[in-house]
Amino acid sequence: MAFKPANHIQDLQYFGEFGGVNPSISDSSTYTFLSAKTMFDTFEGNADGCYLYSRHTSPSNLYLGEALAAIEGTETANVSASGMGAITPVILQLCTAGDHIVSSRTIYGGTYAFLKNFTPRFNIETSFVDITKLDAVEAAITKNTKVLYCESVSNPLLEVANIRGLAAIAKRHDLKLVVDNTFSPLTISPATLGANVVIHSLTKFINGSSDTVGGVVCGTQEFINDLRNVNDGASMLLGSTMDSLRASSVLKNLRTLHIRMQQHSFNASFLAKKFEEDGLKTVYPGIKSHPSHELFKSMMNEKYGFGGMLTIDVGSLEKANELMELMQNRNLGYLAVSLGFYKTLFSAPGSSTSSEIPEDEQVEMGLSDGLIRFSIGLDADIERTYQMIRMCMEELNILEPKEDVELA
Ligand SMILES: *Cc1c(COP(=O)(O)O)cnc(C)c1O
Repeated sequence: MAFKPANHIQDLQYFGEFGGVNPSISDSSTYTFLSAKTMFDTFEGNADGCYLYSRHTSPSNLYLGEALAAIEGTETANVSASGMGAITPVILQLCTAGDHIVSSRTIYGGTYAFLKNFTPRFNIETSFVDITKLDAVEAAITKNTKVLYCESVSNPLLEVANIRGLAAIAKRHDLKLVVDNTFSPLTISPATLGANVVIHSLTKFINGSSDTVGGVVCGTQEFINDLRNVNDGASMLLGSTMDSLRASSVLKNLRTLHIRMQQHSFNASFLAKKFEEDGLKTVYPGIKSHPSHELFKSMMNEKYGFGGMLTIDVGSLEKANELMELMQNRNLGYLAVSLGFYKTLFSAPGSSTSSEIPEDEQVEMGLSDGLIRFSIGLDADIERTYQMIRMCMEELNILEPKEDVELA
């Protein structure tokens, strides 16, 4: 039977200690032991089911972690206080001084800054490549390479990584393939396609209500144990732990993720088709003009569509800013970074979320000034939304007014 990620969450059942339909929230930083021996064993990592201290793990964080592991089809998972709090310990756990990383050049700005500016302090170097070119990826591998890093659907250019192809390269060279799946939860399941570690910023679609930051690392039990190891685990020692109250809140939101993803995808697909018909340069993995449309189709769990992210190019930063301000004034969405909210969010990535990337590199990767990134919301009437966006574009001379066929 095909891997059906939403079924796995649906089948997970956790009761509260009084039979509540949601698990009880663990509201403690530390836990008592009945015997000193069990405390010792727990430090050694040999006391299953015993809690020690909430930076290590807590019941609420374990519930959320198990639900996310179930979505991704991995053995287990470790939640963290933010997406960067998941990414940075994974890199530092897998690499030591002298090691090398091959990374996609179109990745989240924070991740890019970490690999470009921060890890070199520890003598960990990264080569940035065009991830859609498997031969370029393989050519960048050196004898010191330990990690292959990419996003399933990249930020902000919506390039699609060939996860099966990258997994084969990783296997051949004995590397770990680490995939950030933040843009495509449920839609793409990287672990089932061969990724070793799958990361999410829970801040985005998974939590979906823009009320917290959060992250998760999904992987094998062995790797997650390594991250949590009290002596040398990067997650344990760097300390980016999610709070229990927040973990329980994210878990409740996770229960509706499958419905939200379907609506985000439906709305984004509708708008992408309309924008393209109107002659706007539109990037969306669900339209045929996207260079990786077929590749995306070959990896996707069909029911959830092509995701909620799209970009258009309106020619200049000035036009982009005018349009975003006008759309915000008409309550069509918010001029804000981030994604996965019920409301449409838009920003110009070149001057915001990707501003860590130097301008000449932005040009080389196709990140133009007039680019607007949209995270399409859960609008109930997307046809009406489209008509209103179109009106904004006509007012700003981005589009010619449509001739009214009936009056002509
Ligand atoms: C937002 C984001 C991150 C970072 O997550 P935070 O929760 O903000 O720390 C990482 N990767 C991608 C693709 C993102 O969109």
